[in-house]
Amino acid sequence: MKTIYFDNNATTKVAEEVAEEMKPLFCELYGNPSSMHTFGGQIGQKIRRAREQVAGLLGCSPGEIVFTSCGTESDNAAIKGTLAMYPHKRKVITTRVEHPAVLTVCRELENHGYTVVELNVDNAGRLDLEELEKELNEDTALVSIMYANNETGVVFPIEKIAQMVSDRGVVFHTDAVQAAGKTPLKLSESNIDLLSLSGHKLHAPKGVGVLYVKKGTRLSPFLVGGHQEGGRRAGTENAPGIVGLGKACELAGENLKEENGRVRYLRDKLESAILQKCPDCRLNGDKDNRLPNTTNISFEYIEGEAILLMLDKHGICASSGSACTSGSLEPSHVLRAMGVPFTAAHGSVRFSLSRYNTEEEVDYAIEKIPPVVDRLRELSPFVSK
Ligand code: PLP
Repeated sequence: MKTIYFDNNATTKVAEEVAEEMKPLFCELYGNPSSMHTFGGQIGQKIRRAREQVAGLLGCSPGEIVFTSCGTESDNAAIKGTLAMYPHKRKVITTRVEHPAVLTVCRELENHGYTVVELNVDNAGRLDLEELEKELNEDTALVSIMYANNETGVVFPIEKIAQMVSDRGVVFHTDAVQAAGKTPLKLSESNIDLLSLSGHKLHAPKGVGVLYVKKGTRLSPFLVGGHQEGGRRAGTENAPGIVGLGKACELAGENLKEENGRVRYLRDKLESAILQKCPDCRLNGDKDNRLPNTTNISFEYIEGEAILLMLDKHGICASSGSACTSGSLEPSHVLRAMGVPFTAAHGSVRFSLSRYNTEEEVDYAIEKIPPVVDRLRELSPFVSK
């Protein structure tokens, strides 16, 4: 049985071209990029190239790219590194729907005397920008708002938000882990100061990420020791991962149009068939402002986990929330923030596609999902028979 992978917001397949590019860095080009000899210099050259490739995707200059180990590290470094530079400012603004890589850091700050404001979202997962405007004041050190939501795919109006925040002289960070490679970015023309991305969400390997730091942004080093990454992040570089990420960014740039075209078509086909064929379903999130690859659907009266287990038997892999929170019995904090009723939040499934999915796979899923839902409803104590 073939595996159909619809869980690309959790992680993605490493592109063959990326793996190829990385291979020599394990057993042949294994030098330390900081070494003076030719062997080290070759690696330094490759890292420079990767930095240019990442900068190409983000529309910024290579000197503004800091390589990290993952999206979580980038998020943590952006928040903690900014606050360290503005010790007299004690307010941070974020949203209720951030990934735990941001939300947990912010909530911990409350134990250290910070005021943390979590902006609300409406029932489509949209922000109220007036609420943000009211909360911005002289005490605000940082605003951290995600580009696109990992569970629903809802995209926030980040450029508008960045402009508002910058007009008030406050540092703006965005977690673009889900958006990078799916949305065109031109950071040189943007008011975004700090932006996180993660390799394994865009067909690069796990263990590599980026924090974009706009030139002139004040940020304390996140790891101290050697002089790597311009002194911002010490530690011998993950050369294979960085080279892989560079290639993945180049491919993402080339494939952006396809992501927005073919992948959107496949997602829409899957989504509309499910909503049409399965009664008592609802789409979670703003239909019009979403990533092209994500759909989050609630199936009333049944558990998302039960659906996933049965779909898995047919070779279909999806998710019932973000990979980090699945396994917990609590319904998703994102859906709860959107006011999705408890029963619907429990019955939610996220399908997230990539450029490697095919129409055949979508057709297969459309054939298998409705009978799975019908069968589970027959067994559900919440459905009157
Ligand atoms: N931010 C968002 C929006 C995510 O979806 C994720 C991963 O799911 C992360 C941050 C964390 O990224 P990483 O797994 O690279 O630490």
